[in-house]
Amino acid sequence: MTLLVQKFGGTSVGSVERIQSIAKRIAINKEEGNDLVVVVSAMGQTTDELSKLATSLSTQPPQREMDMLLSTGEQVSIALLAIALNEINVPAISMTGNQAGIITESSHGRARILEIRTDHVQSLLSQGKVVVIAGFQGTSLGRGGTPEITTLGRGGSDTSAVALAAALNAEACEIFTDVPGVLTTDPRIVNNAKLMKTISCDEMLELASLGAAVLHPRAVEIARNYGVTLKVRSSSDFNNPGTILTSQGCGSIGRGGLEHRSPVDGLELLENQAVVGLSCIPDHPGIAANLFEALSAGGINVDLIIQSTHNGNSNDITFSVAENELENTKNQCKKIIKILGGNITTQTKMSKLSISGAGIMGRPGIIATLFETLSKAGINIRLIATSEVKVSCVIDTKAGKKAARSIAESFKLNEQQIHLNPQSKPSEEPEVRGVALDNGQIQISFKNIPDEPGTAATIFTTLSEVNISLDTIVQSERKNSNNTKDISFTLKKEDKKEADLALKKLTSNWKDSFIEEGQSIARLSAVGSGMPTTVGTAGKMFRALADQKINIEMIATSEIRTTCIISEKDGSKGLNAIHDYFMLDQL
Ligand code: ADP
Ligand code: ASP
Ligand code: MG
Repeated sequence: MTLLVQKFGGTSVGSVERIQSIAKRIAINKEEGNDLVVVVSAMGQTTDELSKLATSLSTQPPQREMDMLLSTGEQVSIALLAIALNEINVPAISMTGNQAGIITESSHGRARILEIRTDHVQSLLSQGKVVVIAGFQGTSLGRGGTPEITTLGRGGSDTSAVALAAALNAEACEIFTDVPGVLTTDPRIVNNAKLMKTISCDEMLELASLGAAVLHPRAVEIARNYGVTLKVRSSSDFNNPGTILTSQGCGSIGRGGLEHRSPVDGLELLENQAVVGLSCIPDHPGIAANLFEALSAGGINVDLIIQSTHNGNSNDITFSVAENELENTKNQCKKIIKILGGNITTQTKMSKLSISGAGIMGRPGIIATLFETLSKAGINIRLIATSEVKVSCVIDTKAGKKAARSIAESFKLNEQQIHLNPQSKPSEEPEVRGVALDNGQIQISFKNIPDEPGTAATIFTTLSEVNISLDTIVQSERKNSNNTKDISFTLKKEDKKEADLALKKLTSNWKDSFIEEGQSIARLSAVGSGMPTTVGTAGKMFRALADQKINIEMIATSEIRTTCIISEKDGSKGLNAIHDYFMLDQL
């Protein structure tokens, strides 16, 4: 018998008719000889409606009570689906997270799964029953022996399904939803978004954390780590095979917990790098496009790119290239600066140190540990690039090997996981597989902070203590008159209040420093595994925006992603422009 885990989202169980329709489909799958575990979300907008009820009573309802409330949504849909299945003579039984043995951490609201005790589910399967399990919820073992209902965070039913598939060693986990699969971008904003046949888990992790709401990032993380075959399919067109997510993972669930595997599983040190800093260049649409197009026309493969705007009228752009491309790069930049104005500085003998894994941004402590390790060793970080699957720092080569050793120790990496000067292999993968828009971020600038090792580490640690991740981190190129620097970053809107409180403590430690919130922003990102080995991808993205006269406020790249921060009002236009420029509807 083949065991399949199938998950149906809110829209797919949104009415009695839909429940009847998926029940019929489940009956056919059962008839075909499969064992079935079915995970469901709450019907339609139930979770939002329940949240509204709570917030009409209190601006800050206790998290425990929120979990009690929100988990009821899924309890309704499991029972209704089991009733519908029994009605058409498919033996089925519904189970809450607790009954299905889904054990989580005790933290309410975003609990991670520790283990799934599958005995009960397995014995029901062996009796020929379809087991219908409530997504999004679990149980903590509870202090004093009283179990507590926990929830996994919004969109968490995907995570329940993939975790069950990993624990039960299922043949595949199929996520049925209201779109045909993973599309090149959000179909609500771009009407010619196209279905992808396949996408790697790393690409999906990036897209999911950058705004592609189709899958919960933690679900992708589990699939990647344990090698679960994950498919995203349409709940209204069962003939469409949808999208398959590919990964090389095959880890076994360790004692630390199902969602507690160390997310860092690789370290890379790339020497012979150079950093080029352009400062005080004019700030208007097209500057970044002109610069990076010129570099790509010269055959130069730019690695990390960071840009920030100052006082709304001039830009600093910093980027890294291989040292043997520096002369060529300098010549190209000089030509541009001659026309535009601005200054150029270069630094050689630099190294890029990267850690890789899955779910790095979802665990702010990881980046904090990385920066603290560098800070303790007195190493200054020249450039920072963060993303869901990779975090890189550009540092002085002299410090590189020592830093790599300390970091490998901090993350308990073995020799096989450490790579010194890896060769980049040509890739068959597209430079851009998908694009995403995130309107849920705000931009913060921390002004007048000390220009010395440890500053970035202090900011990250302070925020990681309250479980907040930063993204799109840009350290300014120019120094302020009092020998301080500025650092800008983005964070989730919902984390703003807590971040403000935490950062206030730092402003009192650093004389003259202050925090400034930027204008309303949209974060646009392009993701593709072929990006590192393709020359000129970033330049194309900047050109797509320049052609629409959209100004870029900040740029931050990482290995397989390029992110631009633009004004919020231009978000949809920018997303459409980039999607068209890379002809994603025609791939
Ligand atoms: P479910 O309720 O089934 O979990 P979600 O609403 O969580 O469904 O996710 C599906 C929705 O994600 C789609 O309706 C679509 O609007 C949105 N979406 C955003 N980006 C993408 C993308 N790249 N591919 C597919 N869907 C996307
Ligand atoms: N019902 C929950 C939510 O709306 C979980 C889910 O649908 O995945 O967030
Ligand atoms: Mg969802």
